[in-house]
Amino acid sequence: MNRLERIRIRPGAKAALRSRDAGDRLGLATKEAALALLADHGARLAILSAKLAATRAKAVLLVLQGIDCSGKDGTTKAVFDHVSPTYLNVVSFKAPTATELGHDFLWRVHCALPARGAIGIFNRSHYEDVLVVRVDSLVPEAVWSRRYDAINEFERHLVNEGTVLVKCMLHLSRDEQAKRLRERLADPVKNWKFSADDLAKRAQWDAYEEAYDAMLERTSTDWAPWHVIPADHNAVRSAVVAELLAATLDGLGMEWPSLDESLRGLVVS
Ligand code: AMP
Ligand code: MG
Repeated sequence: MNRLERIRIRPGAKAALRSRDAGDRLGLATKEAALALLADHGARLAILSAKLAATRAKAVLLVLQGIDCSGKDGTTKAVFDHVSPTYLNVVSFKAPTATELGHDFLWRVHCALPARGAIGIFNRSHYEDVLVVRVDSLVPEAVWSRRYDAINEFERHLVNEGTVLVKCMLHLSRDEQAKRLRERLADPVKNWKFSADDLAKRAQWDAYEEAYDAMLERTSTDWAPWHVIPADHNAVRSAVVAELLAATLDGLGMEWPSLDESLRGLVVS
């Protein structure tokens, strides 16, 4: 089984996060090997993203989910290092505003989707509505439990209408999160990333693990499968997301659009 097949969750399969190794290097023995793979796929993505913009073949949506410190921002920076920001559309989802709460949970998501030709990056997403919302009982169970099916139907609709979804759950271990939170507390450059809420969420570790397991089991579909990315090693995490995204874009079989017949023979004086 290749690397990308190993991280894919088959529809209906249990991810069993507790039994997965967040420190798995996925065959990338050293940091240098992971960085070399990242550089290769990063360079491919620079070209593929331009082809996507040129052809408007599809809209591409990268969904990044993961607990605090799992590297959602770091992945965005590393994977798209060589891609022109012109082609990107990054959206970070925070707790909903009063206006957003006045609508169905997918309303704000729909408004934030990339158009054809663009790559959208969701830092958190509609999946918070079956994660934090479930763990903290922000709505009754009767409401959040319906959302798995609603999300699957929503994503099926998006796929039918020309969006390609690449869903990555960044899987961090408890020990590695502790290390990173301590760094955020100790390092003045990282202080701004720390919030007391991170500790409250860490104290709910088991409940989040359960919610993530349910999400992975119920919303990995043929049309929009989940990938669980071991995230304890930053370089491995970013390299594998870049590999997955490049493979997805490559699979679209895009060619540079040729000059329109009516423009052939024109001379620039
Ligand atoms: P951060 O990603 O660290 O900036 O934090 C964003 C916060 O927004 C996290 O604590 C999320 O749990 C929270 N959040 C995002 N989406 C939702 C949602 N739909 N309902 C409640 N909280 C949310
Ligand atoms: Mg945070």
